[in-house]
Amino acid sequence: MKAAVFREPGTPLTIETIADPTPAVGEAIIQVHHCGVCGTDLHSTEQQHEPGIDCVVLGHEFVGEIVELGKDTPAGWRKGDRLASLPFIGCGHCLACLKGTTWQCASRKIIGSAEAPGGFAEYTSVHLNEAVHLPDAVSWEHGALVEPLAVALHAVRKLNHGLAGKNVLVMGAGPIGLACVLWASFFGARHVIVSELDPGRAKLAAAFGATGLVDATGDVGEQFRTLTGSAPELILECVGVPGMIGQAMELAPYGGELLIVGFCMKPDSFLPAIAMVKELAVQFVIAYDKSDFQFVVDMLAADRIKVDGMITDIVPFSAFPTAFEALRRPTSQCKILLNPMA
Ligand SMILES: [Zn+2]
Ligand SMILES: [Zn+2]
Repeated sequence: MKAAVFREPGTPLTIETIADPTPAVGEAIIQVHHCGVCGTDLHSTEQQHEPGIDCVVLGHEFVGEIVELGKDTPAGWRKGDRLASLPFIGCGHCLACLKGTTWQCASRKIIGSAEAPGGFAEYTSVHLNEAVHLPDAVSWEHGALVEPLAVALHAVRKLNHGLAGKNVLVMGAGPIGLACVLWASFFGARHVIVSELDPGRAKLAAAFGATGLVDATGDVGEQFRTLTGSAPELILECVGVPGMIGQAMELAPYGGELLIVGFCMKPDSFLPAIAMVKELAVQFVIAYDKSDFQFVVDMLAADRIKVDGMITDIVPFSAFPTAFEALRRPTSQCKILLNPMA
């Protein structure tokens, strides 16, 4: 099959023919219809592979159609079924796997990493324990957004006091920031204000329910107060670079809440005293459970969330390495999808 392969940092992905996947117990092979590019895909091409690994197929935001079933697959799945899947392969029988919280499975592998090949390919394997049916009412394109939407949903579900009636600041309008804006609005926030550097991305935020925009290069606190009459009592950090948590602590009022969604791979520092004096509640979050995926699919199928503006480009294999590299620089692109069938 054809795949976009990552070989070493500093060189673009290469389109190669590699061996077709075969399904292990409980697994199915899907033909990938679309696969989104995530910030973590870019991050993982910055590091050298572990010894013994020379090529990796990334991509964990995929949807597809079952073309082959392995042995002992769970009931309810057939060839031709459309699905979205958590990009995890769990053991299938620990408590975490049975509950659908496979992230916490001790032997969990991540699809689209050095642990298991992912969706930047014509075919990939999924474990059907982690898959949810994608009804016909959800397009393939929207299906590829289930994963980033589930990240943001899982994040806001961790909030102790919810979103209803809150004055919320979302820092960063990348795909995860926009998805947070969508859920903040969906769950009843009063104001959803977005701070962002790129004017193109900032403009997208309104389509997802942002009630106001602030320029991230200016005085964010002052602009927020002008728009809402208050300080941001709940801040969703969706940028994931050093300095953001400290900045959010500065902006928060006494008793404020911080939700750290942006995935930061570098050491960061902040002054704990600032958070202490304000008695801030700081919650870090990661990934999603199967129930998050199912909720997103249900809301898409019922047309209760509008996500069209998030996809800014869909490219075939031939244009994919260049489109992937372009995301390393500041960009107005939001979500780019690979269409391996184009
Ligand atoms: Zn992702
Ligand atoms: Zn398990």
